[in-house]
Amino acid sequence: SGGSSSVSMGAVARHQGRVPLGLKRKGLRVVVTGGAGFVGSHLVDRLMERGDSVIVVDNLFTGRKENVLHHAGNPRFEMIRHDVVEPILLEVDQIYHLACPASPVHYKHNPVKTIKTNVVGTLNMLGLAKRVGARFLLTSTSEVYGDPLQHPQVETYWGNVNPIGVRSCYDEGKRTAETLTMDYHRGANLEVRIARIFNTYGPRMCIDDGRVVSNFVAQVEGLMKLMEGDHVGPFNLGNPGEFTMLELAKVVQDTIDPNARIEFRPNTADDPHKRKPDITRAKDMLGWEPKISLRKGLPLMVQDFRNRIFGDQQQQHN
Ligand code: NAD
Ligand code: UDP
Repeated sequence: SGGSSSVSMGAVARHQGRVPLGLKRKGLRVVVTGGAGFVGSHLVDRLMERGDSVIVVDNLFTGRKENVLHHAGNPRFEMIRHDVVEPILLEVDQIYHLACPASPVHYKHNPVKTIKTNVVGTLNMLGLAKRVGARFLLTSTSEVYGDPLQHPQVETYWGNVNPIGVRSCYDEGKRTAETLTMDYHRGANLEVRIARIFNTYGPRMCIDDGRVVSNFVAQVEGLMKLMEGDHVGPFNLGNPGEFTMLELAKVVQDTIDPNARIEFRPNTADDPHKRKPDITRAKDMLGWEPKISLRKGLPLMVQDFRNRIFGDQQQQHN
């Protein structure tokens, strides 16, 4: 993440929230929208560890206060219960914009709200970034490739998306969010970054999430490298290890209970048949690649689910 090392560029860089990883630095003021959610709360942990001041902006639709409760009382931490569809005034250096339900069960629950969150919510956060000169990072998704006709998917592929289907509020919403992000970049000179995250699993995931597990949440590091680096993207962040759903079911069976029964059910509408990220760009330009295999990552999530499920039951009995 070299690039600008001259003194004057350094001053500009600080103003725009750019500090190379690993350099001694003063803490930044960072907003994480959706910071009480699954990916966001892990990101908040990493930013807090690094010494930043973190403001979580979250309406708690799918997020949970418990995910960030361990930071309560820290003077560098603040949580604002706010819906990004409404404007907000804050003074910050960087914005990680994650706010959006990510699981089909949640984003299909109120599709119009999902679109508003992606379009109006992203517009508001870009307007905020423009006003204060903050760097803005969008967490987009592999879903922008739709049911891909190219395999594996490289970032230059434009995708195959149904504009009128039941997933469109999310797919097309994120595609518009990417468009808005690039238009603020070109039109208002905003510093922006775009990540396309592939299915991610790990501790704190919603128990009813319902998505397939493929990529361990440790990829939060990829988001931070992207924010601190010099490249706009988009970047695929995911695990290129490919397996069939049946292979996955067997790993789950091995991990939780060898006697668990595998059931075959009809698929949901417009579900992509096959997906696999080409992560050459992230490897070359960000020096990032996933490190945790499914067999290593899955037990960590299973333990977290067990604690939450059985912990809750104990509380009810007390
Ligand atoms: P999540 O549902 O756990 O987190 C989303 C957070 O955003 C929640 O805390 C929710 O309360 C909040 N939120 C939703 N709508 C909001 C609104 N209108 N205003 C304020 N807050 C709002 O999901 P996640 O898995 O942590 O995903 C985070 C981001 O990463 C999302 O933008 C998602 O699209 C993207 N992403 C995730 C995955 C994945 O596999 N988890 C894959 C691709 C992209
Ligand atoms: N916005 C915001 N916080 C800010 C600045 C802007 O929420 O600190 C919102 C603003 O209300 C508007 C959106 O971001 O809805 C886009 O703002 P911008 O200034 O880019 O465009 P305009 O207000 O001219 O439409």
